[in-house]
Amino acid sequence: MATRRYSAFAVAREATRYHSGWERAWASPAPKAKYDVIVVGAGGHGLATAYYLGRNHGIRNVAVVEKGWLGGGNTGRNTTIIRSNYLQDASAAIYEKARSLYENLSQDLNMNVMFSPRGVLMLAQTEHEVRGWKRTAHANVLQGIPTEFIGPKRVKEIVPIMNIDGPRYPVLGALWQARGGTARHDAVAWGYARACSAMGMDIIQNCEVTGVRQSGGQVTGIETTKGAIGCGKLAIVVAGHSGRLADMAGFRLPVESVALQALVSEPIKPCMDVVVMANTVHGYMSQSDKGEMVIGGGADSFNNFTQRGSFHHVEETVRALCETFPIITRLKMLRQWGGIVDMTGDRSPILSKTPLGNCFINCGWGTGGFKAIPGSGWAMAELVAKGEPGPLSAEFGLDRFREGRFIDESVAAGVAH
Ligand SMILES: Cc1cc2nc3c(=O)[nH]c(=O)nc-3n(C[C@H](O)[C@H](O)[C@H](O)COP(=O)(O)OP(=O)(O)OC[C@H]3O[C@@H](n4cnc5c(N)ncnc54)[C@H](O)[C@@H]3O)c2cc1C
Repeated sequence: MATRRYSAFAVAREATRYHSGWERAWASPAPKAKYDVIVVGAGGHGLATAYYLGRNHGIRNVAVVEKGWLGGGNTGRNTTIIRSNYLQDASAAIYEKARSLYENLSQDLNMNVMFSPRGVLMLAQTEHEVRGWKRTAHANVLQGIPTEFIGPKRVKEIVPIMNIDGPRYPVLGALWQARGGTARHDAVAWGYARACSAMGMDIIQNCEVTGVRQSGGQVTGIETTKGAIGCGKLAIVVAGHSGRLADMAGFRLPVESVALQALVSEPIKPCMDVVVMANTVHGYMSQSDKGEMVIGGGADSFNNFTQRGSFHHVEETVRALCETFPIITRLKMLRQWGGIVDMTGDRSPILSKTPLGNCFINCGWGTGGFKAIPGSGWAMAELVAKGEPGPLSAEFGLDRFREGRFIDESVAAGVAH
């Protein structure tokens, strides 16, 4: 499908003719009988996998099969925090690759993904957190990722609306990553989808995968609500539904699915130009370009596939943030929602070969995979194209759970978002 470039000139041209000349951003074809690669899941990670398969490896006979609408899963439901200040080297490498790709993603995809490197503050509100963030800051220096541990005075300078002297949760300092930030989540999915479609790839929406066809330890195709489709290789990239797809393919995953929720307030005047994460109270907040305060909370403590919000989380999350941000006590909350996230025991992702020779899986990003989309797609495309993991994904194989080689980002780093 031919696509015209988006530009200021194109906007001006369309303004003169009632915007009648915009073409569809991506095609909606019927599935072909067979593809070289089928990617299941048109979230950010699936679409980025397809994009880098085409761009980096020249594999373009690709279908991305999606049961709903593209970007309608967690990719369109998250709070868009982007950072790379992880503790373990393998994590820092893939998240930093993603963060650096985000810097030029708008130009790369010719779609404004509104990447805003406004800075991310991760508050230390206990002595344990102070020690944890200092340790992470030291690790980041060794990894070549610019972060620093800053004191409460500097925190207050960066976020004047913050109350740093709360009796229960005083702010003792923070881990500061000045090049972290946010991006527009829908635009990331739309940008990758448009670029994939322009390369001749098929994005097949409203097409649920219901079975995985196999012969002699290899995948031969998939069964879907639009019929059977053959493939040379299969990439499963379905986040919270990974366990179900693995079940169809005949293997098990060390992944649990739980709902994670978020909410936004009514829009207010600009009052906070960075992202703040308060992990002790388990709330985090940023202000959207529209002025809404975007607030995220914790994950459910039981497995479920509900994909919607619940009142007790709103209350818990907002109550937790009230002491640190007194201004939100007077805000009305507008919307809440939930997504189904896929959690591993070590809170690190899985990019891996599977027991089926030509089937690969990308999952386990849990509560924090939006920030990883470009790096994950890059690494997954390499894994699928070459059949072997590259340097970015080598540590994230399924075998680490058998071998006890965990990449611990929950207990060690204190947070998984
Ligand atoms: C409330 C919330 C807040 C979050 N905040 C952040 C944040 O601030 N920063 C951050 O980095 N991350 C955050 N995350 C996590 C992040 O959203 C996810 O890790 C990431 O979006 C996962 O992307 P994905 O492409 O793997 O999955 P998804 O976007 O969920 O895509 C998977 C797709 O697979 C499709 N699918 C499932 N089963 C089938 C099937 N049988 N057949 C065909 N298609 C199927 C689904 O419909 C879905 O579209 C948050 C998540 C939530 C829910």
